[in-house]
Amino acid sequence: MAATKEYSVEEKLKGLIQLQKIESKLDEIQVLKGELPMEVKDLEDEIAGLQARRTRTEEEVNGIQEFIESRKEAIKESQALVKKYEKQSENVKNNREYEAINKEIEMQTLEVKLAEKHIKDANDDLYEKSQQLERINKQIDAKEKNLEHKRSELDKIIADTDKEEKALEKEIIKARQSVDERLLSSYERIRKSYRNGLSVVAIQRESCGGCYNSIPPQRQSEIRQHKKIIVCENCGRILVDSDLHDSVSI
Ligand SMILES: [Zn+2]
Repeated sequence: MAATKEYSVEEKLKGLIQLQKIESKLDEIQVLKGELPMEVKDLEDEIAGLQARRTRTEEEVNGIQEFIESRKEAIKESQALVKKYEKQSENVKNNREYEAINKEIEMQTLEVKLAEKHIKDANDDLYEKSQQLERINKQIDAKEKNLEHKRSELDKIIADTDKEEKALEKEIIKARQSVDERLLSSYERIRKSYRNGLSVVAIQRESCGGCYNSIPPQRQSEIRQHKKIIVCENCGRILVDSDLHDSVSI
């Protein structure tokens, strides 16, 4: 039987910490890649929605402008009629005819006033719509800038990560070799059971760095002695002291 190297508990712990750090780094890349494409897609959808709103608002503006033009035409027609009636009133034959013409003039004058009121209201609408358009355009600008930024970030990550991921995967294979099999399988079991993939954690503020359950002082000092592998009573994660944790770099 080939002699297998015997590792001290401290060496085992260091091996685990290293493996955990490398795998966490790989996890970070996945998270980064996982969220950016979604953020880019969300921004694209939001911009498309705003652009549709802008088109609708522009159409509304056109409609209002056409309405204003039609009212201006109506005013011109009424004014022309008033002029015509005024001329006619110079040659009336009797009182009845005079009154009838006057009534027409009065009606056309009212028409003009009504059209003027419509134009005023429409102009108010127009102002509101132009304010709306300004706001929409600002939102589109801001989101487009953000999108551009996210896209370049994503492109950069995609360009970078392939290389880094492959390098990390190699390191993981190497790091696994320095952890004994039994320990490795419990490490993996714990890692799989938590969404954040943390299996080895440092003590933080007298508590487990994974579940924040407090650790009694006696247990903390046992952990610091590196005599045996100690797991959190609450979450089962492997506990190490922060000095040991910090001493391992990847
Ligand atoms: Zn815990």
